[in-house]
Amino acid sequence: MLRALALVLTLLAVALAAPSAAADRPLTLLISIDGFRADYLDRGVTPVLSRLAEAGARGAMRPSFPSKTFPNHYTLVTGLRPDRNGIVENNMEDPAIPGVTFRMSNRDAVRDRRWWDGAEPIWVTAEKAGIPTAPYFWPGAEAAIHGVRPRYWVKFDMDTPNAARVDQVLAWLDLPPAKRPRFATLYFDTVDTAGHDYGPESAEVNAAVAGVDAQIGRLIEALEARGLAANLVVVADHGMAALSEARKAYMDDILPKAAYRSLAGGAFMTIYPAKGREAEVDRALIAAHEHFQCWRKAEMPGRFRYGRNPRVAPYFCLAQTGWALTTRNYRPSNPERGAHGFDPASAEMAAVFIAQGPAFRAGVRLADFNNVSVYPLLARLVGVAARPNDGELADVAPALK
Ligand code: AMP
Ligand code: ZN
Ligand code: ZN
Repeated sequence: MLRALALVLTLLAVALAAPSAAADRPLTLLISIDGFRADYLDRGVTPVLSRLAEAGARGAMRPSFPSKTFPNHYTLVTGLRPDRNGIVENNMEDPAIPGVTFRMSNRDAVRDRRWWDGAEPIWVTAEKAGIPTAPYFWPGAEAAIHGVRPRYWVKFDMDTPNAARVDQVLAWLDLPPAKRPRFATLYFDTVDTAGHDYGPESAEVNAAVAGVDAQIGRLIEALEARGLAANLVVVADHGMAALSEARKAYMDDILPKAAYRSLAGGAFMTIYPAKGREAEVDRALIAAHEHFQCWRKAEMPGRFRYGRNPRVAPYFCLAQTGWALTTRNYRPSNPERGAHGFDPASAEMAAVFIAQGPAFRAGVRLADFNNVSVYPLLARLVGVAARPNDGELADVAPALK
């Protein structure tokens, strides 16, 4: 009898010491608020997120280069910088995929796994381990990366109201336990849009921030009502810098339009020399310019960790933070008052980070860190082995219990 009891106690001790099976772990919910600059959290318009930060950890993240949406979303879920994860820009070309320009608005390209196969996002690793995932609206979620689709996903539709986004994730969480996602994401773009249209210091940005804050409040209440334990990780892909009509630099002042093609303008321009104009382009770009600087792709500053990928344009011209690099005939109907894509080291590009839930300590303020370190944290929370990556769990470890 006593020996039987001892055996039961031993087995119990072993079971408690073993890493809990994925199914017993709390849900990992990764929430991206596009363009939520780190300091928006201190504007007094985020009752929910501020409470979350107090009950957990907060910090400011440096985005990876370039500080744009698709590259950084893929970095967050792979731990690899854009040059290594293959999503080197929102707009790009690949010599191995001729005749196609990858753009966020190119639905076929966004769903084509060849653009994404250079890395493995955490939901693919989780699915391979039998963990159901739901990367709602996350860039890459529409592609069968490495041949694996997330169990739950929907086509991106910018017109989906924020409340409906929350409702969709809750609907998946209402499935029977065995079918429920154990890793899910949410994505909100209203803060980024307001930042571009009105600038980071605008009342419109504060209203958009408050709107997303309220939806996250609804989500948390709904999780509590269902008794669902969740580790919440709230991130942004980049911040936002104010632009001005007085801070414009013009490429046509140094190079005729016929000499090159570009797939991006604003915080930076990517430059593809026209056939036969290579020497002229090189001479014009590789010189001193007042409010921007250009590099040959192989000679980008080391701290950007950028330029080896075949998808990177031959020349990259980066504007001084707050300046727009454009052309004289570019006159959009709504001039941009905010932009990102600038040097990730500038304070305006810093992105918010908040983590709260059973895995996290309360009241932690992390030192600024590179956003590549979110991935090893996610792997730890989800319960899968992190694949080789550029991050350091140590950056976020002080937040963990
Ligand atoms: P950016 O200016 O780099 O911050 O890009 C932000 C824009 O990307 C937003 O207006 C979003 O609507 C758009 N976007 C975000 N996710 C996706 C997606 N999965 N597919 C297409 N467009 C997206
Ligand atoms: Zn973005
Ligand atoms: Zn944006």
